[in-house]
Amino acid sequence: MAVAIRFENSYAEELQGLYVPWQGQEWPDPQVLLLNTALAERLGLDAQAMQGAIGARLLTGQALPDSARPLAQAYAGHQFGGFSPQLGDGRALLLGEIVDPQGRRHDLHLKGSGRTPFARGGDGRAVLGPVLREYLISEAMHALGVPTTRALAVCTTGDRVLRQNGLEPGAVLARTASSHLRVGTFQFFAARGDRDKLRLLLDYAIARHDPDLTGVSDAALRFLERVGARQARLIAQWMGLGFVHGVMNTDNMTISGETIDYGPCAFMDRYDPATVFSSIDHQGRYAYGNQPAILLWNLARLAEALLGLIDADEERAIARASDVIEATRAQYRAAWLGVFAAKLGLQEPDAALIEGMHALWVGQGVDFTSFFRALPDALQGRDTALAALFTEPGQALQDWLAAYRAVFAAQRGDVAHLHRANPQYLPRNHLVEEALSAASDTGDMAPFLTLLERVQNPFETVTGAERYALPAPQDAPQIVTFCGT
Ligand code: AMP
Ligand code: MG
Repeated sequence: MAVAIRFENSYAEELQGLYVPWQGQEWPDPQVLLLNTALAERLGLDAQAMQGAIGARLLTGQALPDSARPLAQAYAGHQFGGFSPQLGDGRALLLGEIVDPQGRRHDLHLKGSGRTPFARGGDGRAVLGPVLREYLISEAMHALGVPTTRALAVCTTGDRVLRQNGLEPGAVLARTASSHLRVGTFQFFAARGDRDKLRLLLDYAIARHDPDLTGVSDAALRFLERVGARQARLIAQWMGLGFVHGVMNTDNMTISGETIDYGPCAFMDRYDPATVFSSIDHQGRYAYGNQPAILLWNLARLAEALLGLIDADEERAIARASDVIEATRAQYRAAWLGVFAAKLGLQEPDAALIEGMHALWVGQGVDFTSFFRALPDALQGRDTALAALFTEPGQALQDWLAAYRAVFAAQRGDVAHLHRANPQYLPRNHLVEEALSAASDTGDMAPFLTLLERVQNPFETVTGAERYALPAPQDAPQIVTFCGT
């Protein structure tokens, strides 16, 4: 028996050479631990049917409807700057695509479903803590209005998996995405010099994400432009939330503009552009302040992969692609100004005010999220809470506030907008750690579920939930995150 889902399989049908057909591993006792019923309903799935034993077998890849054609995707990618021509889903499966009642297509994908031919040295497994972490942070991002893959379910497998801290509960994440096409997917065929396959892939990506570009003469260049525009908006949104992705390799950058692969990511508490959480990012390549530069670097790698399709004349192709990258740089800047203007409750970005604000924070240990929540009071003359966020609040802060009040008044700003533009509850590191250890170590899901509820409603003040809005105590150890989930 399987849950009634009618999968479509456009990826399997149209992109031969970009995958291997594959099956999930067998598990001793698959159980649904968490089901995202709101998402299930949006997808047109029967949430009730997915909760039970049959749902658990589907969501761990054990028993699939006949329409599923499970596969492991191949891709290439630059990881920390070094190119690997052969990566791929080492422990993931694409079950197929679901077309929702609105006609939108979503990949349904499992992570932690066992080894695949792309696993290299990996064990193909995922464990509960990191899987819950992806569920929590992707739900927070969605609630904050950031394009993202979404978590549909977390299942436990009934066995234990060895990780650096000993045996941990094995788990499988089921997630959806508007596709899993990455910059690295294009690099896969480009590295093999397979122009025909690259053209097929481009046509497929355009049909899926930019159907209005179908048949357009400059399609490859226009597609590059679209990816750049989507990613520029996305990274600007990350910057506005203090989000550090942590592993912006080209295989983790989507064509759709959705955030993908929540591994070592985290939200920055105290403002510092050099903030890095990942244990393996020694050079700070993917630090908070470096993310815009990495976006352009990754886009240049996509441009390189598409070069032969942009123009037969290589020099001309390079010149045209470079123009797109420069245009994306400008789009990013505009998006970044727009994000911070909205956070200040302004209709029109004021670059001097926004840059001045960033300069104010330097070396002051300011909690990024709390700063914006303290603005409504500060605008109305009560700036004690705002000043208390600075180690040395001085004249510069007063001067900036005076300028801000003037711009806000001139633009007829609305204080109510400030509350809606600036979240109060984020999955801050210390809260995440606390919730995940309770779940993994003692099976207590209560702290996780409370935190999930807060971050799914990030703008709504809840009385008694003050601790969820506070940064970690000053003396708390800096959290380190791990890729090896
Ligand atoms: P990431 O940078 O986290 O997206 O992962 C890089 C690659 O490593 C991906 O292709 C994963 O499929 C693969 N990978 C990560 N962990 C494992 C594991 N435990 N077993 C097999 N492959 C893995
Ligand atoms: Mg990845």
